Amino acid sequence: MPTTKPDSLDLSPRPDDPTLRGIQAVTDDWIRTVGVRYFSELTNLAQLTEEVGELARLISRTYGEQSFKESDLNRDLGEEMADVLWVLLCLANQTGVDLTVEFEKRLRKKTARDKDRHHSNPKLTA
Ligand SMILES: [Mg+2]
Repeated sequence: MPTTKPDSLDLSPRPDDPTLRGIQAVTDDWIRTVGVRYFSELTNLAQLTEEVGELARLISRTYGEQSFKESDLNRDLGEEMADVLWVLLCLANQTGVDLTVEFEKRLRKKTARDKDRHHSNPKLTA
């Protein structure tokens, strides 16, 4: 059971680990205190989809051809990205995924696989 009260939460990155692992820990602390518990994985998957949709909507209107509606005007790109990250952090925590480990693994794989690929892509240098 949580022992930390929401008003005494330390939301700063962990001094010994100011990494993605640190913000996963902060997210877990928040969920177990302010949030009571995690929503189910299926609920959070639906939430992730919803948040990605909100991000897509804003990007479409900011950088694409769609025009803004009145209801879009107060949206913030950074906030929408943080919403996506938040739900992903929740899903990682509740499924036991260490995103720091997985990110490092993925970066190593992409580096090995794509070390020449993008430099030889004429579409990127045109
Ligand atoms: Mg959002």
